[in-house]
Amino acid sequence: MTTTSTPPSAADSTGPGAQRRTFASISPATGDVVGAHPIHDETDVRAAVARARASAGWWAGLGFAGRREVLTQWRGVLTRRLAQLCDVVHQETGKPHADAQLECTLTIDHLAWAGSHAAKVLGRKRVSPGLLLANQAASVEYLPLGVVGVIGPWNYPVFTPMGSIAYALAAGNTVVFKPSELTPGVGLWLADSLREVVPDHDLLQVVTGFGETGAALCRSGVDKVAFTGSTATGKRVMAACAETLTPVIVEAGGKDALLVDEDADLEAAAGAAAWGAFANAGQTCAGVERIYVHERVHDRFVALLAERARSVHAGVDVDAKIGPMTMPGQLEIVRRHVADALSSGGRAVVGGAEAVGDRFVQPTVLVDVPEDSAAVTEETFGPTVTVRKVRDMDEAVELTNAGRYGLGSAIFTGKDGQDLARRLRTGMTSINSVISFAGVPSLPFGGVGDSGFGRIHGPDGLREFTYAKSVTRTRFKAPINLTTFDRTPEQETMVATLLLALHGRASQLPKLPRRPLATIRGRRRS
Ligand code: NDP
Repeated sequence: MTTTSTPPSAADSTGPGAQRRTFASISPATGDVVGAHPIHDETDVRAAVARARASAGWWAGLGFAGRREVLTQWRGVLTRRLAQLCDVVHQETGKPHADAQLECTLTIDHLAWAGSHAAKVLGRKRVSPGLLLANQAASVEYLPLGVVGVIGPWNYPVFTPMGSIAYALAAGNTVVFKPSELTPGVGLWLADSLREVVPDHDLLQVVTGFGETGAALCRSGVDKVAFTGSTATGKRVMAACAETLTPVIVEAGGKDALLVDEDADLEAAAGAAAWGAFANAGQTCAGVERIYVHERVHDRFVALLAERARSVHAGVDVDAKIGPMTMPGQLEIVRRHVADALSSGGRAVVGGAEAVGDRFVQPTVLVDVPEDSAAVTEETFGPTVTVRKVRDMDEAVELTNAGRYGLGSAIFTGKDGQDLARRLRTGMTSINSVISFAGVPSLPFGGVGDSGFGRIHGPDGLREFTYAKSVTRTRFKAPINLTTFDRTPEQETMVATLLLALHGRASQLPKLPRRPLATIRGRRRS
């Protein structure tokens, strides 16, 4: 086990004479081997967790200010060596440098937010004890869990796992990270960069290997597992964690919809739709995979989107806006979805079956695809998108919510859009942009339904990696002590009278006015 990148040709030795099995990391753009890494087994994983636990006390004991200082220094290292990190991301995923840079930039911003807000969000706060126990001083603080296991995917190998790692560290935990088998070098690079700042403690370690290494992490006795990946694997992770009652966050797949209203800025909507659907070759959990457009503007929107789609191509040349499909197996899924869409009555306005090659998929815009086609119901994870004409935004909401996923969504409208956003059963919604919510560090990120549960980012993301610690302290002797066998019948009567005064007339109160509470409160104050 190591947090130091393994040279491509090395076989990791586990002891005298023993040769550890390794696996190769391969560039999906060229097919070249770019690294070789050990396959860590249950024993290795447990050893990493033990080391993480040994460092956890020191890290938690540093306090918010000390941890903030370390995370600030780490941020500096990441920023200064951004180009190097982008190179590793590019090598292992094939994505263009500009895309790698964008994901790293957003990550650094999240790291800054997590480090600087942890004290405010998690630090001890006094709360009202209420009337019945008014003699108590009540407070709550959020304490680190200990060791967090992070299991990450390959599509955004920096941004996605760091959405858990940065917040878990800021909250005072140490981390053992299992990156995807496709992007182990990125994970190791991240761990090495933190070790430059803190060489003597195991704050972030990486275990490499396949699904079995991830499963070992679930069973290793970590205090929480933050999993990001497919819904199917998420279920396996939950089952493994259930054995030890290890809590889990599941950030799973999506089938995000974009709604375009009749009064939307169509140029802006088409531009955003193209980027949301095709960026990173469509391998974005919150990417746009289906679009519902008001019938009055449908044809114009499709024409604009088609124009945009034709201006994007996948490849390795300097003009290529998107790279290859990172995971070879995904090509087959994309091919199946496009074939199913076309054979069930759909039409390709741009791209189509011939757009799915050996490594690259060219942008594909599909229309007239039935709603029960796999291209509409399942996560495609490729640069393809379906567009459907709808009567109005009510129908668009209905179709969006009919899906089993509920990660993100987007709306383009000339109106305020907030009411429409609230009606969409997704964890996040962008109005007049796509995927913006992921780049706002103070906003929680996560889904509902088959997109999983739990939240990373923002205050919720910090609290995910803590437990709430409630404390009461007796300030003075109460006239009626509720927590004693010494209560007299008179005191019982007084308690009953108090209860009646506090809650007994609740059902007799006039019905609440329909105005929002904030308005009522505002008027009272004025
Ligand atoms: P997978 O579910 O295949 O893998 C995710 C991680 O889980 C990998 O590190 C994988 O290791 C590991 N793993 C596999 N089997 C097990 C197991 N039995 N126990 C524990 N860990 C295991 O997802 P992908 O890597 O293919 O990523 C793509 C998916 O991730 C898409 O569905 C995408 O939507 C989703 N995603 C969700 C995001 C979100 O925030 N909601 C963000 C980004 C992606 P190995 O690679 O070695 O198999």
